[in-house]
Amino acid sequence: MAALRQFIFSLPLLAAAAADAAVCDYDIGLAGTEPITLDIAVACQAGADGLEASRAAASLLRSLAVDGRPMPLEQASWPIGSALFTARYRLALGGDGAAQSGVAAVGRSVMAELETWLLRPASDDTLVRLRPRLPADFVAALPFKQADGAYVIPASLVPRAGYTAFGRLVETTLALPGPGFSAWNPGTTPARLRIVRLDGTLDLEDARLFRWVERSALAVARYWRGFPVADALLIVVPMTGRSGVVFGRVVPAGGISIMLQLGEHAGAGALDQDWVLVHELTHTASPFMARGFWLMEGLATLIEPIVRARAGWLTPEAVWAEFAQGMPRGLDAMTRTGLQGSGRAGIYWGGALLLLLADVDIRRSSEGRRGLENCLLDVLRQGGDATERWTPEAFMAACDRAIGRPVLAGLAERHRFGGSPVELDALWRRLGVVREGGEVRLVDAPEAWLRDAILWGGTAGPPPALPPRID
Ligand SMILES: [Zn+2]
Repeated sequence: MAALRQFIFSLPLLAAAAADAAVCDYDIGLAGTEPITLDIAVACQAGADGLEASRAAASLLRSLAVDGRPMPLEQASWPIGSALFTARYRLALGGDGAAQSGVAAVGRSVMAELETWLLRPASDDTLVRLRPRLPADFVAALPFKQADGAYVIPASLVPRAGYTAFGRLVETTLALPGPGFSAWNPGTTPARLRIVRLDGTLDLEDARLFRWVERSALAVARYWRGFPVADALLIVVPMTGRSGVVFGRVVPAGGISIMLQLGEHAGAGALDQDWVLVHELTHTASPFMARGFWLMEGLATLIEPIVRARAGWLTPEAVWAEFAQGMPRGLDAMTRTGLQGSGRAGIYWGGALLLLLADVDIRRSSEGRRGLENCLLDVLRQGGDATERWTPEAFMAACDRAIGRPVLAGLAERHRFGGSPVELDALWRRLGVVREGGEVRLVDAPEAWLRDAILWGGTAGPPPALPPRID
């Protein structure tokens, strides 16, 4: 996947690829706002081989003409052969069918995954270039890499690409300490986090909302010695009648987009209590692993409370209370079924428990000089952020190399495809974590120092400076 990464992110290579691969240029215009209807002109070089619609796009398509001839809409692909061609289509991101298609229309704005509105080139080898040509008060927010004034994404990534937004958006862009800011890459340029929120009412003022995102991003940057990725788009979707932070999801392919559903009635208290945004931002710091959801979710589950504790938002008691309550939910997967085929509890808490055991092992055997975070930082330093696709084996091998011992490989051997005993109560006793109902008391114990090392690190560099604000 290293070659693909270079292909996507290196501008000179993009230019070189454009000379070889076919290119389709998409000019994105606006045909109407109720519902929001895009009017898209496509010009494809020879080799693009026609256009294809996802199921969602097929249901939202209103008209299509290829080389000026109207096309039947009942089909989902329009083969052209090898010649160059032009096309023009209209697609409504609203009205009947939109909700079922994963399109969220709120007020005079909409959020939609790329494949819901992009008729993609039939040939995977084609490069897609997107150029919004929209009225000044109608904004496009796209997470893809930019080159020569266009957003660029390989056609092969369109089905897995993330969230886009159009319409009346409130937005700001944060400059954050970039990847590796205070460790391996001190000369790093700032990372850019663009935040857009869809239209619609929120009890919360936008300035307060944006400050909360900034604080959360800085807390994540503090753990990872810089914000994990150079560029990301966060789309906030107001949820009518709801309160609190409802749901979040990261989609990294082609450029990182993060969707966050925020209740209309969420107040400052809900933001202070929230874990969802830090969890999602933490995901940006590790590669996508198709057969390693237990690793991906286990990491985010374990690291998120630690990030919040290091930011001063959670007490040590609250973190260990969460672990003491949550980790037993992963025991069935760890001791009986194995993590690989487990359900939700095993994926989140089984994965977190395996990684907690790894952290304990690494810190104990190194007498506190190293911890799981050294492995995680090393994976990130090697380019293993969310835009990458790795195998769990490659991740664990890279991690174990950074530690100098096969810690993860050993744990995976015992708990991935089958179960082995875990002495969880003995672990709490050694760490001095005493459970009393839903609370915990932290007491002196033989390995209480390990408990603190896990929470506070010990190899952390200086915390990143506060970022300048781009208005
Ligand atoms: Zn997650």
